[in-house]
Amino acid sequence: MQVKSQLDDLQNYLTDASNMPGGHAEKLFVPDNAGEVAEILREANENRIPVTVSGARTGTVGGAIPFGGWVISLEKLNKIISIDKDNLRAVVEPGVILADFQKAVDAEGLFYPPDPTEWSCQIGGTVATNASGARSFKYGATREFVVGLKIVLPNGEMLPLRRGSTISSVGDHIELTTDSGSKIIAKIPTYDRPNVRKNVSGFFNERPLDAIDLFIGSEGTLGVITEIELSLLPKPKGFFSGIVFFRKDDELLSFVDEVKRTSFSVREDVGGTVAAEGVRVSLDATLIEYFDDRALNFISEKFPETPSGMAGAIFFEQETTAENEDELLEAWNCLLEKHNADVDVSWFTTTEQDLEKMRAFRHALPVSVNERVVRNEQKKIGTDMAVPDEAFPGFLRFYKDTLDASGIDYVIFGHIGDCHLHANLLPKDDDEAERSRHLYGRFIAQAIMLGGTISAEHGIGKLKSKYLNVMMGERYLNEMAELKRAFDPNGILGCGNMVPERFLT
Ligand SMILES: Cc1cc2nc3c(=O)[nH]c(=O)nc-3n(C[C@H](O)[C@H](O)[C@H](O)COP(=O)(O)OP(=O)(O)OC[C@H]3O[C@@H](n4cnc5c(N)ncnc54)[C@H](O)[C@@H]3O)c2cc1C
Repeated sequence: MQVKSQLDDLQNYLTDASNMPGGHAEKLFVPDNAGEVAEILREANENRIPVTVSGARTGTVGGAIPFGGWVISLEKLNKIISIDKDNLRAVVEPGVILADFQKAVDAEGLFYPPDPTEWSCQIGGTVATNASGARSFKYGATREFVVGLKIVLPNGEMLPLRRGSTISSVGDHIELTTDSGSKIIAKIPTYDRPNVRKNVSGFFNERPLDAIDLFIGSEGTLGVITEIELSLLPKPKGFFSGIVFFRKDDELLSFVDEVKRTSFSVREDVGGTVAAEGVRVSLDATLIEYFDDRALNFISEKFPETPSGMAGAIFFEQETTAENEDELLEAWNCLLEKHNADVDVSWFTTTEQDLEKMRAFRHALPVSVNERVVRNEQKKIGTDMAVPDEAFPGFLRFYKDTLDASGIDYVIFGHIGDCHLHANLLPKDDDEAERSRHLYGRFIAQAIMLGGTISAEHGIGKLKSKYLNVMMGERYLNEMAELKRAFDPNGILGCGNMVPERFLT
């Protein structure tokens, strides 16, 4: 195991994609196995030294940034232990990079759908944040694919968990037994979960609660994930994808509405077919992503072929087979024409190579936003809220009207299928940055008022814990703190993440 304490060696581990300043730590540990993780935690726990778990640090809310104490980096626990083609399962160590895993799985003719836009993250990081992405519209977030976890608890004890094996019974508690026989009884928080398609604000608490779900999305606060078993899907035969441009917002929104409706009804198996030249086929999108007019202008610096003068664009994708490909293409075309998409300037593909280009187009947006913000010497201010379906059109209007009135540069893009968009503000100076923070607070308030969540996928980390207080209130933060204490009585792990410190002391 490597142990480092020189500032030069630690520097990379003191920040993440949030650029939150002030990170500092005394020591960095790079363990080679779970036993060493346990050793580090045992010593830290005995001496009450704070420990921060570090994945690939692509997180956007400061979750992996230490403010004192020790850092455990999981970069050397990076083996793909097995890929079982027959049973559609894989076992990996947490430090495996998502892109490497997806390549390995693909080579076996299998498919692992979770696709946060940043593929350089670690699988452990995606489990700890319950990451989701564009394809979560059809396949769900990381949680849907986690069937087993090995956890090292803050006192160094090992806790193996399999989905379905530890479920809460009647009442508010869940009981877990560690490898060495210790019992942990934790009270499950009682808050209602917002009625949105994606939500990572607070510990998962759906009843009956499977213990494994507590750790998924717990942002490095309850234990260190040292092994992960994932379920896989057979690789789809093909995909049909398009980036389609609209001249009017309302036509774009009505297109999205219809794609969502048909996709949901197909999944619920209640019909949902669209006629195309007498052939009836089912439109069932895997992803529906949005770019507003400003996002298109912004990205045209890197992709000059982007058509100008558009109100916005939608990136969609659907699984195809050799048998249904032609009919599906025709059905999508009919729907696009019905909603007046400008099909002549739009982009379509059924090849993997061009699909990669479309995904690169989508990925380039958040990356360019980060670059612009750094160039402006400002911090990124980007929203991650999701609202209930019925509130979405009004919320999008609120974003645009408020931002237009502010005069601050911005772009809006993201997961429109899940009513979850990222409004990214691009302040040019300190005054605009201050006003942007104020606007961010207004968006948070509006999302909460509409019954939404303050974080649909990026997590709470350190940057958003004060807003979690606004969303949840003191009573539920106290319940979250009580749950954390059940696993981490000395409060050493992931300090400052999710639950503000004052609730833990
Ligand atoms: C350009 C860009 C686009 C992005 N797009 C998306 C997106 O579409 N969807 C999305 O969900 N996210 C997105 N993200 C955020 C980020 O990529 C994800 O949150 C990712 O899952 C973080 O993984 P990581 O390995 O980088 O974790 P880190 O940033 O290192 O850590 C994240 C949190 O997990 C904890 N953690 C990490 N590993 C472990 C472990 N083994 N055990 C316990 N706790 C652990 C850390 O302590 C921290 O609290 C994006 C980020 C960027 C920069």
